[in-house]
Amino acid sequence: MGMRRFDGPSDLHLHSLHSDGTESPAQVMQAAHRYGLRTAALTDHDTTSGWAEAAEAATSLGMTFLPGMEMSAKHEWRSVHVLAYLIDPDDAALRAMTERVRASRLDRARTMAGRIGRDYDLDWDDILAQTSDGATVGRPHIADALVAKGHVRDRTEAFASILSPRGDYYVALFAPDPVTAVSLIAGAGGVPIVAHPAGRAGVLPEPLMTRMLDAGLAGFELGHRENLGPGIRALQRIVDEHDLLVTGSSDYHGLGKPNLPGENTTADDMVERIIERATGSAPVYP
Ligand code: AMP
Ligand code: FE
Ligand code: FE
Ligand code: ZN
Repeated sequence: MGMRRFDGPSDLHLHSLHSDGTESPAQVMQAAHRYGLRTAALTDHDTTSGWAEAAEAATSLGMTFLPGMEMSAKHEWRSVHVLAYLIDPDDAALRAMTERVRASRLDRARTMAGRIGRDYDLDWDDILAQTSDGATVGRPHIADALVAKGHVRDRTEAFASILSPRGDYYVALFAPDPVTAVSLIAGAGGVPIVAHPAGRAGVLPEPLMTRMLDAGLAGFELGHRENLGPGIRALQRIVDEHDLLVTGSSDYHGLGKPNLPGENTTADDMVERIIERATGSAPVYP
């Protein structure tokens, strides 16, 4: 109370070209500012390399910057994303894991490119041409290469066809199980929140969620365009029961997705609770 130094509206989930967004961290913060946000996080997949540029850009625009990351995890066959706010970016255990995931993503993209290249005019250089130096590679970069080669119209069409997990070209990536991801984030002083937890795959099984909560899970990103009503209601009951955190965010990817900054926002008291709970790093104030 009385200690608040940030202002809303707050959008806590945005991507830059340090992963699969299409804009630099500074451009992402400029977009957030244009859409009326006062606090914004950068949450690139499995990397914190965009933080310094984003912090500088955000604060020069009078915004508060909240450092974040979206960590890849996997439960059986399905991909689970855990948002990691205010982690210590130098935590050795967390870094070792994200480096391993990023290396696996690179191998996997190469393998997928090889498989696709048997049927389509596409090679590894085409994907590299769509990937900025040091970025966390993902299917979106392969999608951009397929667009550049004229095989599909946009990322959406690529994901629905050539890049589909049900197709012949798909290769899984290595990622930790969600309990390990949550423990690593909590161990790095961060605040773990499950991203888009009520999407088409449905909510995670309750026993797994209990183990994630025991490992330090803080809450759920209930405000996200991919969440569906029944899942949101099921998770809201768990939130109420355990007094968990709830966030809302855009998951902006620049031109890579239709999602726009501020289309979902996080309540001020929730941002405050994230900041109070974290010990790994701090927001950067204007
Ligand atoms: P990957 O982690 O490499 O398997 O790719 C998943 C990433 O692709 C997610 O982070 C999403 O941001 C992005 N993605 C998933 N589906 C789509 C889509 N239909 N259009 C654009 N991007 C997508
Ligand atoms: Fe993404
Ligand atoms: Fe995600
Ligand atoms: Zn995301």
